[in-house]
Amino acid sequence: MSESDSQQRIAVVLPDGSELEVDAGATVEDCAYEIGPGLGSDTAAGKLDGELVAKEEPVYDGAELEIVTDGSEEYLRVMRHSASHCLAQAVERLYDDEEVKLAIGPPTDEGFYYDFDNLEIDEDDLAELEREIEEIVAEDYEIEREDVSIVEAEQRLADEPYKLELLEELADEGDTVSFYKQGEWEDLCAGPHVDSTGEIGVVKLLEIAGAYWRGDEENEMQTRIYGTAFEDESNLEEFIERKEEAEKRDHRRIGSEMNLFSIQDVTGPGLPLYHPAGKTVLKELEDFVEDLNGDAGYDYVETPHVFKTDLWHRSGHYENYADDMFIFDVGDDEFGLKPMNCPGHAAIFQDQSWSYRDLPIRYAENGKVYRKEQRGELSGLSRVWAFTIDDGHLFIRPDQIRSEVEEIMDMITEVLETFDLDYEMALATRPEKSVGSDEIWDRAEDQLEEVLEARAHEYEIEEGDGAFYGPKIDFAFEDAIGRSWDGPTVQLDFNMPERFDLDYVGKDNDHHQPVMIHRALYGSYERFFMMLIEHFEGRFPLWLAPEQVRVLPISDDNLGYAHRVANEFEEFRVEVDQRDSTLERKIRAAHDDRVPYQIIVGDNEEDDGNISVRDRFEDQEYDVEIDEFREHLEAERAEKRSEPDFLQG
Ligand SMILES: [Zn+2]
Ligand SMILES: [Zn+2]
Repeated sequence: MSESDSQQRIAVVLPDGSELEVDAGATVEDCAYEIGPGLGSDTAAGKLDGELVAKEEPVYDGAELEIVTDGSEEYLRVMRHSASHCLAQAVERLYDDEEVKLAIGPPTDEGFYYDFDNLEIDEDDLAELEREIEEIVAEDYEIEREDVSIVEAEQRLADEPYKLELLEELADEGDTVSFYKQGEWEDLCAGPHVDSTGEIGVVKLLEIAGAYWRGDEENEMQTRIYGTAFEDESNLEEFIERKEEAEKRDHRRIGSEMNLFSIQDVTGPGLPLYHPAGKTVLKELEDFVEDLNGDAGYDYVETPHVFKTDLWHRSGHYENYADDMFIFDVGDDEFGLKPMNCPGHAAIFQDQSWSYRDLPIRYAENGKVYRKEQRGELSGLSRVWAFTIDDGHLFIRPDQIRSEVEEIMDMITEVLETFDLDYEMALATRPEKSVGSDEIWDRAEDQLEEVLEARAHEYEIEEGDGAFYGPKIDFAFEDAIGRSWDGPTVQLDFNMPERFDLDYVGKDNDHHQPVMIHRALYGSYERFFMMLIEHFEGRFPLWLAPEQVRVLPISDDNLGYAHRVANEFEEFRVEVDQRDSTLERKIRAAHDDRVPYQIIVGDNEEDDGNISVRDRFEDQEYDVEIDEFREHLEAERAEKRSEPDFLQG
């Protein structure tokens, strides 16, 4: 038999669903050449089952393969990874490379970074580094991959303690590791990379930050340099514009300007404190879902912040989640801050016996939960240790899935539409590893699909993407500047009812297991609040605004009238600007404080018993009747309109 006959054949699945048969051991690049010589020579990298890999990587049987060329979306990621190498090369050229130690330098969604130890640098030095990177790009060094033995790699990395630590782990996976070399510089790296530094378009260094080695605060703090790269100058400019827009909307800055919340060293990291203005907004958000929950037949329950860990053993969270929990001993017992509200609600349901006629049971709670994220990852309200979920858990019969999910979807879409957020929906179905019978999964998935079909809104099916304990519907929405956010979810659960022995007595007098649904309309208040601050740039709709109306007396002579007018609006959050200041300044201040409406009163208004109204678009109307404006405000607040519209026609 010839060698090729004995060669084992394997098959990969291409994006169009067709299969490509190749010899075992074939690389991504081999496959591309198999498809066509043009594609072969254009190949920059590959995606194997969704993971970006070097073109030298061997494929495996059954893998979904996508070839990445310079026309692919992922190409930018490949290029940015190469840009991070140029950054490290530039650092080693300009700084003492005996002193500076290299850590990691991956691409990110927005660009790339590289971490260095023992690097003394500040923002002023970035321009010089950028020039050196430009130099490296202009040199157009070939980027060569080399596979070397572990022993050889150890020798090459003898002066790089962090790389040696990474190498130690790689040594468990195989006999060789790959290096990527460009000019005089090389790095231990799995790739992929572009073919030469000249293929990198424009590189921009963005900022310097501290980062713990491996994200662990027990480790030393290193210097992280962030940057990004684009094909050309115009794409970079567009990115910088978007970034500036995002910074203008940064919830941390607006949060402090508007005195909404603070996170302080003395009270602890990731533990937000809501000030009166922030709590006012939160309270409105809470009331909004409380109304929706009330209409949909939810009962509010309340559970403590701490439970014995027995509960988490029972729910299964302990096995999978203990590392992310705050756990402590009290006497002989172990306790933990709750990372989720569901087990508490399951325990409430379990404490009673139920008949099929009692279901559905719907519990709601604004439940505070605690999750121990890595300190280095904490950021404003987006990553926190303590947050509140507008949580809801339903215990239902399998035949009620459709109607209950329909109701939840109505509630979610009402919330999203109220804030003018465009959204997408996706159904995530049964993964390979799952609990629950085929029958219950099929029945549940069918009902979820029916719900989605019945809505006049597109959705996607994410095959096999469901949790092991049940299918779910995910929402994602887009904010005012086109950023996409993970939104609410409707998650079915066949596992927790089993673990908690939940049951109800059916028509047949037998015991049956209910289906549990986890749902939240906002998700976490913290993240939703953050998103709203940035979405509205702090210019909240009237119903949410911490201060809804401000009365500005033109002079101190009108102060008495200003207070009388304010009294006419006492059902709103109204303030009188009493400062001894010019009207111009008062208008400026109200604008900066993002108050939706200003009422201006001077001698004319006082004589006529009316008011002037000014909105945050700088439009002003004179001779407005107090009653007319109050009625307008009532309607605008009740309808939760997104923008003040008294003067907008
Ligand atoms: Zn690399
Ligand atoms: Zn839950």
